[in-house]
Amino acid sequence: MRASYTHCELCEWRCGVDRLAGTRGVCRVGAAEVASISCSETLRSMSVTLLGCCYRCLHCNAYRISQYPDPLWWYGRSLTPGELVDEILCHLKEVKGIRVDKISFTGGDPAIHLPFIEDVADVVRERDLPLGIGIATGGFSTPEAMERIAFLCSSITLEIKAFDDHVHRALTGAPAGPVLRNAAYLAQCAPEKIRVFRTVAIPGITDRQIPAIAAYIADLNPDIPYRLIGFRPNFILYYHPGPSLEDMERLAGECREQGLHDVAWSGYYPDAMPAEIEEKRTTLTPRYAGCEEAALAAAYVQSAGCPTHPRDCGACPLRHRCPATLREPWNRR
Ligand code: SF4
Ligand code: SF4
Repeated sequence: MRASYTHCELCEWRCGVDRLAGTRGVCRVGAAEVASISCSETLRSMSVTLLGCCYRCLHCNAYRISQYPDPLWWYGRSLTPGELVDEILCHLKEVKGIRVDKISFTGGDPAIHLPFIEDVADVVRERDLPLGIGIATGGFSTPEAMERIAFLCSSITLEIKAFDDHVHRALTGAPAGPVLRNAAYLAQCAPEKIRVFRTVAIPGITDRQIPAIAAYIADLNPDIPYRLIGFRPNFILYYHPGPSLEDMERLAGECREQGLHDVAWSGYYPDAMPAEIEEKRTTLTPRYAGCEEAALAAAYVQSAGCPTHPRDCGACPLRHRCPATLREPWNRR
């Protein structure tokens, strides 16, 4: 295990603690623990979720993982880098139809486990596997750690949670400066490795930050892809409203007006049923003995691919390859 765990200055909190000896910094985690391994067709990745984070974001959609161990949910398994690669190879055999070209680390913020990721990359190299390394980070690494990330990774997603320091601090518990500095460093020194920069659009909190972030990115390089993610109520913002479809389209337009060439968004908070679902409900109602509530539920699963109505998963010939399995439901619009 590389030395930087034993006097940890991987992120800008620069705690200087020995995480392997049981002392804890702001992130409150020791050596890397794996919460889950999954396959993402969209990212062409085996995605490895690591426990812990240097932030305490109010809107975190994975707070049981990022705030580990505080929420009292236990997921973690300690795997050596070699064991992790063995498991990934085993899973890859199960998903042969899907092209995977990298192992992507997510969390929490996997940047706080950079020494572990570097050891995994060593194993990949030693075994001569055709896999790159990806990371999704909130960008709070020290300049030294960010340089290591840029050297190590073939694909980097960086989330800029807010532009103004006071908004970033209130939302995440940490200052914005290091994140903006790291975004500039990547844009200058490793632009080909940037998969996307992204921001979660939270009404009244980050929506007015987004054009400023877009202007900042456009000034660095207008070709950097920028992605907006519609906030969905979560964690401490569990009862905060999400953005509408119109809000997301407007924000994307404002980002383009700032000069960015590649802006896209996903996810919004619906305030009405999609027209497609209403039509399907009408068609399906006779199949559910005239019951509109049943037909409404069935309309959603039919639109996801289930052809069998009335549903009977126990008798369905498709039950071992159910077409209504959505891996990334936010991509369906
Ligand atoms: S990763 Fe950051 S928060 Fe965690 S111990 Fe190291 S410097 Fe502190
Ligand atoms: S197994 Fe899938 S396709 Fe078959 S009835 Fe159930 S949901 Fe529909």
